[in-house]
Amino acid sequence: MSLELFNQLVIAWIILAVLLFPIQLKVTAPYGRHTRSSWGLLIDNRLGWVLMEIVSPLLFGGFFLLGSNPKTGPMWIFFALWMLHYLNRSIIFPLRTRTTGKRIPLAIVGSAIFFNVVNGFTNGYYLGSLGEPYPESWLSDPRFLVGLAIFLTGAFINLQSDQILLNLRKPGETGYKIPRGGLFRYLSCPNLFGEIVEWAGFAVMCWNLPALGFAVWTAANLIPRALSHHRWYREQFADYPPERKAVVPGIL
Ligand code: NDP
Repeated sequence: MSLELFNQLVIAWIILAVLLFPIQLKVTAPYGRHTRSSWGLLIDNRLGWVLMEIVSPLLFGGFFLLGSNPKTGPMWIFFALWMLHYLNRSIIFPLRTRTTGKRIPLAIVGSAIFFNVVNGFTNGYYLGSLGEPYPESWLSDPRFLVGLAIFLTGAFINLQSDQILLNLRKPGETGYKIPRGGLFRYLSCPNLFGEIVEWAGFAVMCWNLPALGFAVWTAANLIPRALSHHRWYREQFADYPPERKAVVPGIL
């Protein structure tokens, strides 16, 4: 595939995220607390998470490793960050969730697989084959350094917040409580905020179109989800802290 065609496809992918954003604001994706059986066949929640997330490291890793580009220091760092994130998201996180007996619509699993196929492929193929290899001097470029700092900050917030959420339930429990600690002081969904920051940082440190596409899609998926969670918390808990925002501290 030529770089020109590839870029056009990624731009179309980004435009799609922007076009679907208002729809995502209106239609809450039916998984987790918002699961609805009206969305068709349901499968085990943990299995669903593994299936939908594992395709990302497989495709990204495969296209990166098998691609013809020479692999330089900065490229190995992009690879390591992506793979570590997805080792957690596709294996460790699902195993740690306390969702025994819960189910997730196959339609959600299918659409997430499509999302991860496109993002894993475009990012792995670009780095592995299509883009210019990053020179070693990229390691001292301000974009790399600032992006890495943003990525690590987002990853820390995401992991810390997921940790707080996963510890809320005692073994066997599947209900919901008001989360406290960390950035839950300011936000209903710091885990989703952290994920958005993380991939925005990745886009800055890679400074390429497919990484930007992934960052835009992450924000387009997670801002509506955080707003739905926020509304849901306020409806469920009369004593919900009124000062909390949904997903951006002090703003949204
Ligand atoms: P949620 O915050 O909805 O849930 C995370 C886990 O914590 C689930 O196991 C959930 O259980 C449990 N949980 C959440 N809130 C409570 C509570 N108040 N009391 C008890 N348990 C709770 O996150 P998501 O499931 O939407 O996402 C999980 C991770 O995946 C996040 O880190 C997110 O950033 C990432 N993600 C990334 C996407 C992307 O586009 N890059 C897209 C979607 C997710 P239950 O399932 O029963 O609700």
